[in-house]
Amino acid sequence: MEKIVLTPKYMNSFVCIGSECEDNCCSAGWQISIDKKTYQKYKNIKHPELGKEIKDSVKRIKNGVTSDSKYAYFKMNEYKHCSLLNENKMCSVHLNLGEDMLSPVCATFPRIQNQIDNEFELSATLSCPEAARLALLNPGGIDFEKKDYEPNKNWSTKINLKTQNIDNGNTKFHVVREFAIDIVQSRLLSLSDRLIFLGLFMNKLQEILDRKSYHEINDLIQEYQIKLASEQYLNSIQLIHDNISLQVETTIGLVKARKKSDISSVKYLECLDDLMNGLNIRDENHIDNQKVMDVYLFNYKNYYAPFIAGYEYILENYVVNYMFESMFPNMAVGDPFKDYIKLASLFAMLKLHFVGISGEYKGISQNLAVKIIYTFVRTFEHNLSYKNGMMELIEENGFNTLAHIVSLLKDRKILKRTEILL
Ligand code: SF4
Repeated sequence: MEKIVLTPKYMNSFVCIGSECEDNCCSAGWQISIDKKTYQKYKNIKHPELGKEIKDSVKRIKNGVTSDSKYAYFKMNEYKHCSLLNENKMCSVHLNLGEDMLSPVCATFPRIQNQIDNEFELSATLSCPEAARLALLNPGGIDFEKKDYEPNKNWSTKINLKTQNIDNGNTKFHVVREFAIDIVQSRLLSLSDRLIFLGLFMNKLQEILDRKSYHEINDLIQEYQIKLASEQYLNSIQLIHDNISLQVETTIGLVKARKKSDISSVKYLECLDDLMNGLNIRDENHIDNQKVMDVYLFNYKNYYAPFIAGYEYILENYVVNYMFESMFPNMAVGDPFKDYIKLASLFAMLKLHFVGISGEYKGISQNLAVKIIYTFVRTFEHNLSYKNGMMELIEENGFNTLAHIVSLLKDRKILKRTEILL
């Protein structure tokens, strides 16, 4: 039965480019989950050429994390490629048996399908380089449209959100997310300052949710819409002091924490080398913070700021896509201010990558920006245990306050924004 879907317009152009892809998702070294139904289909398959190969390529998950959706996985070969990828980098299951024989994870990727009540949302994770190009490289920003939709039975639904329960704030989910995205797409401020504005709004929203005064949410949005149009209020955000040394030290610490567990993306490891070289870090266990900060500010002024003057929309599109696909802020589970801290911390780390890597290449091209972002999403966003660990680290260090998050985000004012734009 046809439903309604809300989708970013870039999804109209997305098709997997398969063998043309520079970093095929089937050779990304991830564990590719198979659900119970597909596993049983594979175990009973009678295909003359592929039957044995498929049976030999799947393995049951037998530890405590097994579930119907994560019942088995594909074995990787010695190069960390899915063993069912053929010599032309095409999936032999899809090619020979059709899409219906794929597991939901394989059929859905890189699409993210969410459901709100009876409506669907369809976007893409930017860990796919082709989806990243389409979503990121649009100077006009991400636009959305509603259209009729026939849900694909083989696609998995990531988040299923209900907005009817009056005992949480999600009755206001649509208006809150719409306004949060409006803030990020409001180009009167630099992107970092827009995220600080978003933090001020989210902080107040959290207070309302803590009091369960959900009826105040509309008034809060109105108050912040007025602030978003107030030159005086926007100026006050621009005048906030930066704390670059805290920003650099904290974000490097968060990147180092990720290195403690396995990183499977070879292309991300290239970015990581470029980041360290670009910041002149030779031994990450003995970092001279003052020297690194000096290099950071040099890169920032000479390479990152000129790039941002022309291409800040790339990072804006990253943030907007993240908010849309993660249904930010979900007010029924967890606390939305925590979701904001996660978003702001990921953005601060991504900015560190851009500034550092810009030093290695004396600038950033659009291709390089796409590579940094899709490998960053693969390495940081797709690792749930890291994201949870990151939040624990932030909380343990007392960085989970608005003041600290502002320090992570606030840029050094090198030129007036209008001067950069000229
Ligand atoms: S990463 Fe994207 S474009 Fe590349 S093979 Fe996977 S789905 Fe296709």
